[in-house]
Amino acid sequence: MKKFLKFLLGAVLLLLVVGVVFLFWPIKNAAGPKPDSDQSVDVVLVGGGIMSVTLATYLQELEPDWNVQLFERLDGVALESSNGWNNAGTGHSAFAELNYTPELPDGSIETKRAVGIAEQFEVSREFWSHQVREGRLGTPSDFINPTPHMSFVWGDDRIEYLRKRHDALVKNPLFYGMQYSTDPAQIKAWAPLVMEGRDPAQKVAATYMPLGTDVNFGVITNQLTAALQKNPHFHLNLQNEVQGLHQNQDKTWNVTVRDLKSDQLRTVRSRFVFIGAGGAALKLLQMSGIPEAKNYAGFPVGGQFLAFQAPAIAGRHDVKVYGMADTGSPPMSVPHIDARKLDGKPVVLFGPFALYSTKFLKAGSQWDLYSSVNQHNVGGMLKVGEENLDLVKYLLQQAELTDADRQAELVKYYPNAKREDWKLVTAGQRVQVIKRDPATGKTSLQFGTEIVTDQDDTIAALLGASPGASTSPPIMLKLMAQAFPKQMEAGWKQKLEQIVPSYGQELNKSAALTNRIRRMTSETLHLPYIEVPDNAGLQPAPAAEPAVQPQPEVPVKTEDKTNKAMQAL
Ligand SMILES: Cc1cc2nc3c(=O)[nH]c(=O)nc-3n(C[C@H](O)[C@H](O)[C@H](O)COP(=O)(O)OP(=O)(O)OC[C@H]3O[C@@H](n4cnc5c(N)ncnc54)[C@H](O)[C@@H]3O)c2cc1C
Repeated sequence: MKKFLKFLLGAVLLLLVVGVVFLFWPIKNAAGPKPDSDQSVDVVLVGGGIMSVTLATYLQELEPDWNVQLFERLDGVALESSNGWNNAGTGHSAFAELNYTPELPDGSIETKRAVGIAEQFEVSREFWSHQVREGRLGTPSDFINPTPHMSFVWGDDRIEYLRKRHDALVKNPLFYGMQYSTDPAQIKAWAPLVMEGRDPAQKVAATYMPLGTDVNFGVITNQLTAALQKNPHFHLNLQNEVQGLHQNQDKTWNVTVRDLKSDQLRTVRSRFVFIGAGGAALKLLQMSGIPEAKNYAGFPVGGQFLAFQAPAIAGRHDVKVYGMADTGSPPMSVPHIDARKLDGKPVVLFGPFALYSTKFLKAGSQWDLYSSVNQHNVGGMLKVGEENLDLVKYLLQQAELTDADRQAELVKYYPNAKREDWKLVTAGQRVQVIKRDPATGKTSLQFGTEIVTDQDDTIAALLGASPGASTSPPIMLKLMAQAFPKQMEAGWKQKLEQIVPSYGQELNKSAALTNRIRRMTSETLHLPYIEVPDNAGLQPAPAAEPAVQPQPEVPVKTEDKTNKAMQAL
């Protein structure tokens, strides 16, 4: 017995020593390898998702002669979160997502965040419209489709909340046209699958916004990449993993890359580095050793959906219906049943269900989470865990879910659903940002997107995943303003106004500006349009004009890089 206790004590001590060494192990090497060439490239982009490719597209328009190298560890772009099957494809405009409009203690509805997100999505429409006109994106229906956004609730309190939310938002030009109903027949006309088989005694309410969209971010990423490659100054390096970042005296970066085909290492010198590595961005930021990285930690949450592909079902659901998360549940748990167009076919997805994994990427390593913990962030992570027990409980519950549990959740939104009609599919990994505020020292869990730059504007990383891909064009505008202030003043701003005509203005303040911009983007992207009157809040909304019919266009040729695992459904 004594022997056993001695052994136990020894093991605990050893574990403690290993833990301390692990936490204090230097995050980066003191000296990086020398670059293969003394000549610097202008920009290195780490990761081939929608964020890097959007930034590269802006930069190529602004500075076509800049040498840009994109490194992607997988054998194609858009194979992680940006892939059509790996996210929900919602063009987040805050039309339906109830977590963007919390009810305040005085009973009023906070609309600030929702208006900000709606505003950002208009910028995305402008950016994508410009790319269609320039021939970098092809037929709009391949990547964006009119898909009305609905919110759907039951129970007196939630019905009253939805009514107040509608009243608060519909006055704003960006939300004009949103309808509200408690009439089961009307709601059934909007979303038959949601109402058929439902208890007629159940009180329900819904809002319906005809201007909602479904977006395939994977198609956008692939098409923009194909267009970027037409410029000889842009180089796409697939199966190339960035494994080292080291800053030189002159502030340039040595980026060490492993070619995964030949296992060869090489080092590229760059004036600017963008870390668009999705979930893995945190680890690369830590690898850079910039002091700003010490304020961050990350927590991975995977997603799963139930997928219906039978035309008899998918063909009867042409809306995205967002419900309300259970009290205490995190925003990523909001249930929604979505009409999608994937691989050219209609699909219905219901979810998300959380998937517990320690990986930061779908194709990542189980060690990702552990290797991101260090002496700077371990305390904050533990504190956030303690303060977010609801989230911890939710994730533990989700890990235990059976198919019967998933079916029980599904029938709340699709009462006639049959178990044999759906397949469980694994989507992408999100890494929620845990951030310490350098001013107050307080650490908190963030559900948004965070741009981190160094003080010399030589490196920037994008952390977090919400609202995510929908807002990649405005996020990259913000990043450029932060990282390239001199160039912005020296002429970029004027050029950006040609790409995003509303640049520097706010649509939500003006019906006239909303109409001008939306009419233009609706025409180019073949989306419905509603004219907003000056006194938007006082006028009943007319029906939306139907989507403008597609004009014959020259399609942009791209390789089929759809997620093979998902195609196997
Ligand atoms: C379940 C789920 C649902 C979502 N739903 C929506 C939605 O409805 N609407 C919406 O707008 N957004 C949604 N999102 C978020 C959206 O998918 C992401 O915000 C967006 O795709 C992130 O793009 P990215 O380019 O930053 O990352 P990614 O698309 O993940 O790309 C990062 C790339 O970097 C590569 N990489 C990583 N490390 C390295 C390295 N060391 N060297 C080289 N390459 C590297 C990866 O292989 C990957 O290809 C959802 C996300 C998830 C997970």
